Amino acid sequence: MTAAHTTGSCRRVELPGGRRAGPHLPVSPGLVKVAERAADVGASALQIFSDNPTAWRRRAEPPPEAAAFRQRLADLDIAPLAIHAAYLVNLAGPDETLFARSVEVLRHELFQAPAYGARFINVHAGSHRGAGAEAGVNRFVDGIALALAQAPDGPDAPLLVVENSSGGGDSIGATVDQLAAVLDAAARRRVDERLGFCLDTAHLWGAGYDIADPAEIDRVLTEFGRLIGFGRLVMVHFNDTHSALGSRQDRHAHLGDGRIGTAGMAHLLHHPALDHVAFYLETPEMEKGFDAVNMARLGDLVAGRPLAEGPNRSLADSA
Ligand SMILES: [Zn+2]
Ligand SMILES: [Zn+2]
Repeated sequence: MTAAHTTGSCRRVELPGGRRAGPHLPVSPGLVKVAERAADVGASALQIFSDNPTAWRRRAEPPPEAAAFRQRLADLDIAPLAIHAAYLVNLAGPDETLFARSVEVLRHELFQAPAYGARFINVHAGSHRGAGAEAGVNRFVDGIALALAQAPDGPDAPLLVVENSSGGGDSIGATVDQLAAVLDAAARRRVDERLGFCLDTAHLWGAGYDIADPAEIDRVLTEFGRLIGFGRLVMVHFNDTHSALGSRQDRHAHLGDGRIGTAGMAHLLHHPALDHVAFYLETPEMEKGFDAVNMARLGDLVAGRPLAEGPNRSLADSA
């Protein structure tokens, strides 16, 4: 470990319980540099895209740097690593071609995960595209069953982590009920053992859960525990949002700069049911230094301090 990064890990953001946290970082600077940047901003976990998130084409093999990246993350004690599956993936819709391509991309993400040392492959529940929620849930589970059947098993195999949606564009998985329906369908197909869940705070808000209110957080989590079980909740996407409550929209904001605000976010961060959960920031402009700002704000939320100031913002950024 170099001196510079020993300093970095000294600034690690301390979290309650066994929680870990880190940003979603773009991998364009190079994988090893990204691992070191995560340590420098105080992260204990990390999320990335393995490839271009808006393209179908996947590189055939993991990049040569993956082994060094995996080792660097281990040296820096940054885990769990989550890989967010490409945005184009939609397993819930009726279109056969799109479905087949989505299964293939997801299979590929699962297949590559051990090379990166990824514990989680995070996927959106997707859109039923007019076929109805029930058909969408069944179709989605058909898709994950196909992808999992073709992906390697074993101790290095990642969990497939289903993310809640904000409910826009015929998406499924906007309610705890619907996430539970996904789990039930997966259990009927006996693929539930490799399934976890991710709650994205901005999506909860868009879907109409008023998580600015600590009592509503308690209610949602109690429902999650009852219908799904906290052991299944492995990731939280910890984002504030500019979108209106229940708008079914999803415009991620820096911690404390959006409509959810600090009281709800701090309550979630300290909730005793989430001691085992990894928190990932998907806040904007990570590549402009806001990775450090939002990690510092995470530490402020833990400590109950006023939030750290950000770098100067251009008019375009605050629009
Ligand atoms: Zn996502
Ligand atoms: Zn998310």
